[in-house]
Amino acid sequence: MKYIGYCRKSTDEPDRQILSIEAQVAELKEFAAKEKLEIVDFILESKTAKEPGRQKFAEVIRLLESGVADGILSWHPDRLARNSIDGGRIIYLLDTGKLLDLKFPSFWFDNTPQGKFMLNMAFGQSKYYIDSLSVNVKRGNRQKLRRGEWPNKAPFGYLNDMSTKTIQVDKKRAKFVRQAFEMYATGGFMQIDIREFFTKNKIFNKTGHTVHVNKIKHMLSDPFYYGVMNFCGELYEGSHKPLITKKLFDKVQEVVRRKSKTHYSHTPEFDFLGLVKCGECGGSITAEKHVRFYPTKNRTAVFIYYRCSKKFGPCSQRYTTGLEMEEKMRVAIKNASISNYVAKKFLEWAETDSQKENLESSDKVGILTRQLKEAEEKLDRLLEAYLDKVIEETEYKAKKNELLENKLSLQAEIKEITEKGNEWLEPFSEFVKTAETGAKTARAKNNLHELSVQARTVGSNFFLKDRQLTCEYVKEGWKPLSEFGVGALSRPSTRTLLGD
Ligand SMILES: [Zn+2]
Repeated sequence: MKYIGYCRKSTDEPDRQILSIEAQVAELKEFAAKEKLEIVDFILESKTAKEPGRQKFAEVIRLLESGVADGILSWHPDRLARNSIDGGRIIYLLDTGKLLDLKFPSFWFDNTPQGKFMLNMAFGQSKYYIDSLSVNVKRGNRQKLRRGEWPNKAPFGYLNDMSTKTIQVDKKRAKFVRQAFEMYATGGFMQIDIREFFTKNKIFNKTGHTVHVNKIKHMLSDPFYYGVMNFCGELYEGSHKPLITKKLFDKVQEVVRRKSKTHYSHTPEFDFLGLVKCGECGGSITAEKHVRFYPTKNRTAVFIYYRCSKKFGPCSQRYTTGLEMEEKMRVAIKNASISNYVAKKFLEWAETDSQKENLESSDKVGILTRQLKEAEEKLDRLLEAYLDKVIEETEYKAKKNELLENKLSLQAEIKEITEKGNEWLEPFSEFVKTAETGAKTARAKNNLHELSVQARTVGSNFFLKDRQLTCEYVKEGWKPLSEFGVGALSRPSTRTLLGD
């Protein structure tokens, strides 16, 4: 008789008592020598047997059916089959005579009705084991989730605290994760820019490599960061500390939705690529680098030229030098910037107004608190209806997510009003500070990357035509600011502007 040695160990088997594949092979070889069994081939599988369709298992079946072998040697029946389909196949091969014998060092089998019955039981038990395992895992997970605990690996920006089995903020990364959300919410950045931002700040993944763009993509749409856990499509309130507000998260989702419709190209060397389009034909702008050597001076100089890609056909536009482009960009940014004097004034004015509004907001908190209580009662009633089997699970889940979203929004709103005072104060101050930075960025030297970052923040639809650069300023703040003409205004005109 010719045997196939079959060994399997999958990574998702939590049972540490199961031998490694190497150990299984060694055991089988020893067993075969002792029993004087001929092994024609070893087939090793590291995939899980929970789902039918294992490739190596299919190979075993093929070898048996083609008559290359007529016996199987494996550590235990549970190595061979962990679902009823695989088990059924083995039994069928025994019944049809393609398979004559099975040998296990840890399980006795002989090809008799009683033997097959015992084997069936062993397969059945392994199926039972798998079923109960996944039920236990699910049950354990759900309990954890209801307590607000995350049963999986901590998302980027958080850490698994092994001693307390909780999720803690990763102090090193969290700050940058938050900034990444803020950057992305402006709509002026791509995921690749976020990666660059991480790399620049020495933020790498846990293995020390550059963070993958897919990971950033996933991060930007994970509600975990504002305190809600999405587990298999169901939302749970997390007990971990949020890194961002729901409002910021929602803003980022809007940008994600918008961006999924457009495509960008990006070459880090030329900072303005992907930002500017040809004003004549709408084609993208490409850049070229020319290195020129001056023998008399014995030095080389690098020139960058931007020109229309002409991908939409003929276009009469000629090139623009990198220097020209840089100058135009500085002007565009300066037009939407404010001097530090104006910035200071704006912030003072905002502070006064915010104090006034604080008084009014306490009334609002009262209303929101009542609404929150209502939402919580509704959730309770919904759960009761589900437990009483008045409604179906799918309906329950959908409704629950909706109510929970509402509840979380209310909570977030209350929190924002009570903690931060006014909704507009923070973004407004942030805006003022960014506009102030804009003035500095427009003035500074050798800062092409900062220029492109600021340009993406304040505007979009940059067009280059006849060496002139135009853009649309972002409606919230930047557009009125650019029209106002306060960009780098000096003291006297500012006074009239602010009426002070
Ligand atoms: Zn063109």
